[in-house]
Amino acid sequence: MMRQYELVDRVRKYNPQANEELLNRAYVYAMKAHGAQKRASGDPYFTHPLEVAAILTDLKLDDATIVAAVLHDTIEDTASTREEIDQIFGREIGALVEGLTKLKKLDLVSKRAEQAENFRKLLLAIADDVRVLVVKLADRLHNMRTLHFVPPEKRARIAEETLDIYAPLAGRMGMQHMRDELENLAFRNLMPEACAMIEARLSDLRLKNGAIIHKIEEELAGALSARGIVADVKGREKTPYSVWKKMERKSIAFEQLSDIFGFRLIVGTVEDCYRVVGIIHTKWPFVPGRFKDYISTPKQNDYRSLHTTVVGPGRQRVELQVRTADMHDIAENGIAAHALYKDGRANDTDVLSRESRAYRWLRRTIELLAEGDSPEEFLEHTKLELFHDQVFCFTPKGRLIALPRGATPIDFAYAVHTDVGNNAVGAKINGRIAPLLSELQNGDEVEVACAEGQVPPAAWEALVVTGKARSSIRRATRDAVRAQYAGLGRQIVTRAFERAGKPYTDEKLKGALPRLARASIDDVLAAVGRGEMFSGDVVKAVYPDFKDERKAGASANKAEAGWFGLKKAASLVFKVPGAAAPDAAHSIPIRGIGGDLPVSFAPNGGAVPGDRIVGILTPGEGITIYPIQSPALTAFDDQPERWLDVRWDIDDDRKDFFPAQIIVTAINEPGTLGMIASVIGDAGANIDHIEFVSRSPDFRDIVLDLQVLDLKHLNAIISELKAKPVVSKVERVNG
Ligand code: MN
Repeated sequence: MMRQYELVDRVRKYNPQANEELLNRAYVYAMKAHGAQKRASGDPYFTHPLEVAAILTDLKLDDATIVAAVLHDTIEDTASTREEIDQIFGREIGALVEGLTKLKKLDLVSKRAEQAENFRKLLLAIADDVRVLVVKLADRLHNMRTLHFVPPEKRARIAEETLDIYAPLAGRMGMQHMRDELENLAFRNLMPEACAMIEARLSDLRLKNGAIIHKIEEELAGALSARGIVADVKGREKTPYSVWKKMERKSIAFEQLSDIFGFRLIVGTVEDCYRVVGIIHTKWPFVPGRFKDYISTPKQNDYRSLHTTVVGPGRQRVELQVRTADMHDIAENGIAAHALYKDGRANDTDVLSRESRAYRWLRRTIELLAEGDSPEEFLEHTKLELFHDQVFCFTPKGRLIALPRGATPIDFAYAVHTDVGNNAVGAKINGRIAPLLSELQNGDEVEVACAEGQVPPAAWEALVVTGKARSSIRRATRDAVRAQYAGLGRQIVTRAFERAGKPYTDEKLKGALPRLARASIDDVLAAVGRGEMFSGDVVKAVYPDFKDERKAGASANKAEAGWFGLKKAASLVFKVPGAAAPDAAHSIPIRGIGGDLPVSFAPNGGAVPGDRIVGILTPGEGITIYPIQSPALTAFDDQPERWLDVRWDIDDDRKDFFPAQIIVTAINEPGTLGMIASVIGDAGANIDHIEFVSRSPDFRDIVLDLQVLDLKHLNAIISELKAKPVVSKVERVNG
């Protein structure tokens, strides 16, 4: 086990100002906290956080990161708390350790390969400090290095997760070295035979080509030193995993990959980089199109280097990368190479510019990380729903669901499955019952309670944030409305068949679907219910020889003619003879009106006792009585002087009639009007006037001016009409 002074020495080697006392305190605290805990290897558990810290000292990270690494498993695995760590080590370190604790909890979640991208984003969303991710990667690296102690059945899962999630994350953070090691450790575990085969052949190759590589190295170094340039020349080793990937991707044999040599030249200054390439190009012929200047135009992740390929000694193709030590550090360690370690490198005097450069780099990296690499994801999420606007939640079984920020359990439910959304009646967030409209947070575990046969309230449509939820709700409410229309349509169609004296079955209608150009029976019934299709046409489609006297087609006039045996215009008006109308204005029993002004009821709708009423004065003409709910009154809103407070003045034994207007929507078939008239007549009311408004061949809107005793009388008539099967709607008109 690494000793206390060893840890301090490692840090002081690159950071003489390191807080020795803080490092010692962390060492002692974590050692005590983990106590007798053991790892799978049988080693004391404490060796693990120490090794993680050691990996990070290789990356020359700052004190807080090193201390956080030493403490990274304390909150989760020991009796330690965030408060205690804040107290002993300060809030900065407390926040880092808590960030790592949150990430550790995610290890329990199943991570299927197809969710890896989301999971990487979740890591980022939860870790609000990049240093947390760097420690997490070091933690994973040490666990991978010691994976052979873990039971075999667990190994594959951890190795897969490393390949799917952590290695790409390291790559995106520019930590190429970390990525390579993670990938190769995972590869060795997942495909031990393939790995061994490639390793054996790589070492064969080293033996076989050893002489040639040495020769190239010597010639390169010689040519450069002759021009006074000091360069560190290194043959570039291929890693087993990178060879495997290339063989897989390009489906080529090992031999085809083995004939290229790669070298890396590390020099002192940027000018040296260009001079080196110049010298090499004059000494050996270069392969056209292979020179890349990533120094003047760095890659997006700040990778800087010159690349070229020449035909070297023995007509061997040689790939060269030329860069300074700083550039190399960034190429290998990415995010960790930047100003995360704030105490400054000896040769770096311009701290400010270095920090701002590091900041820019970080921002760019985060943007890169935010970009998904699967095209489906871009299709699925709109531009507005980018990563930093997302929340990541889990099902109780550990499935990861990515949602836009502001998403609710309803969105979550629809993301899980449309049926879950449609049947959702309640939700639990992290085990607690929560409103379906709560805003979800990163890492929430969401459980949706369902009830069969539920229709989502249409109002949800305005409250959800995902397109999927919105469209599903719209579809479900539309389906429900359609089902209502289909029910009404079935009623109309069966009656039409009865009238025609023809038997109806669904089977028969099914056979006629092509003639009706509809896909299903429900489509036909809903179309009839909505008034888009005439029931007579349905009968005719089933029984082509059927002759319908009402012969409707699309023309409303013809249908009406069928109804009354008349040829009429779309709107038809006639007076019912003998109806009693209050003919004299003075007979209207209203209180609150002085003088001899004529009083009349509002032209459309009238008013009946029981209505709350208001009088509107028109100078020189008289007073018009409106029910208080009449929409027509809004026209007088800005003329308060015309409003009169009036009241009914009725004797209990007086049996006068008062005008009221209703609209009845009813199925267009013989007998309908008679039925309506008899309901009204039986109730002891009069019909003063009837007007038919065109709607469709199967429906009519009938505007009826009635004479009724009072509001109670009118409401009784409306209820009775509504109860009739042929009537689909009754509404009072209020002027
Ligand atoms: Mn750990």
